Amino acid sequence: MKVYYDKDANLRLLKKQTIAVIGYGSQGHAHANNLHESGMKVVVGLRKDGASWQKAKKAGLRVAEIAAAAKEADLVMLLLPDELQAEVYERDVAPNLRKGAALGFAHGFNIHYSQIEPRADVKVIMAAPKGPGHLVRSTYVDGSGIPCLIAVHQGGKAARDLALAYAAAIGGGRAGIIATSFKEETETDLFGEQAVLCGGLVELVRAGFDTLVEAGYAPEMAYFECLHELKLIIDLMYEGGVADMFYSISNTAEYGAISRGPRIIDERARAEMRRILAEVRSGSFAKEFIAEGRTNTPALKRARAALREEPIEVTGAKLRAMMKWLGKKKLVDRAKN
Ligand code: NAD
Ligand code: MG
Ligand code: MG
Repeated sequence: MKVYYDKDANLRLLKKQTIAVIGYGSQGHAHANNLHESGMKVVVGLRKDGASWQKAKKAGLRVAEIAAAAKEADLVMLLLPDELQAEVYERDVAPNLRKGAALGFAHGFNIHYSQIEPRADVKVIMAAPKGPGHLVRSTYVDGSGIPCLIAVHQGGKAARDLALAYAAAIGGGRAGIIATSFKEETETDLFGEQAVLCGGLVELVRAGFDTLVEAGYAPEMAYFECLHELKLIIDLMYEGGVADMFYSISNTAEYGAISRGPRIIDERARAEMRRILAEVRSGSFAKEFIAEGRTNTPALKRARAALREEPIEVTGAKLRAMMKWLGKKKLVDRAKN
């Protein structure tokens, strides 16, 4: 598999263009600010009454309504929540998309599951950072970067060169850019976030916390053991793989890990992972999530409300308030990003 870096990308391709970044959320704020600081001409496309408008203005970016931003752009990057993209695309973007313009995504969902079907003259590309938007921004600022996937749905070599330039301009070329397809990105991304990164991880932490608290241990102890320490362990794995993490922890911890870990993630858990992957590939997860979006995300709203009351979250908020350094350079600052 070939990995591309900054030296392989031609940023001049983009410098001649106007890039409309539609949406100023996790990815949108990161792409818009990184592109701007890489010397690109950026306009952020937003709803006039939306909360993001002032945030983007305060960051020193040019802001316009979505339809107007799309009209002046050579490349329109759609960074809205996946469940809203098709509706906004039909209404505000498609009628204004210039002939031969490019349309970009940071995730293949809407193209792969045919929710958006752009005109044949439009180049359709993807530049999907393999990390949360707030880290796409913070790593760009500190001089490092997040690996990025690129793909072309239509538009051939010109589209591919554009995707590569875009991925480099948002900082991906420092860490590595990998060419893939919309299908492969969509399926692996959904699987990863459901089974491991977001779904599996949160349930693992929650189950560990609950087990200790149910057995009578203090929630503060359980929080430090099952959530706080996770970052320290992950940092070791991130830098040097499982081997460096095992090298750093005690032999006791390492023996506990090799003998007990497979009892947690056992054959039943692995079989469930395969079922989750099958739901992603068949489109049944997509169908379920599109229905959730069409009914104004009731399951997401219920889960967010319940989470606010959960002991692990309540305990964590108190303990984090004592760690003053955490507040100072938080990646998420809801007033700004
Ligand atoms: P988000 O939910 O953080 O932000 C969406 C933004 O869209 C909002 O901040 C707002 O500016 C705008 N918006 C919201 N509702 C709107 C509406 N009704 N009409 C018009 N504009 C509206 O979104 P995100 O998580 O950054 O996701 C954007 C894309 O990036 C998705 O395709 C997602 O899959 C992909 N992606 C996200 C991440 C991530 O870290 N969050 C990582 C990789 C890929
Ligand atoms: Mg994703
Ligand atoms: Mg320990």
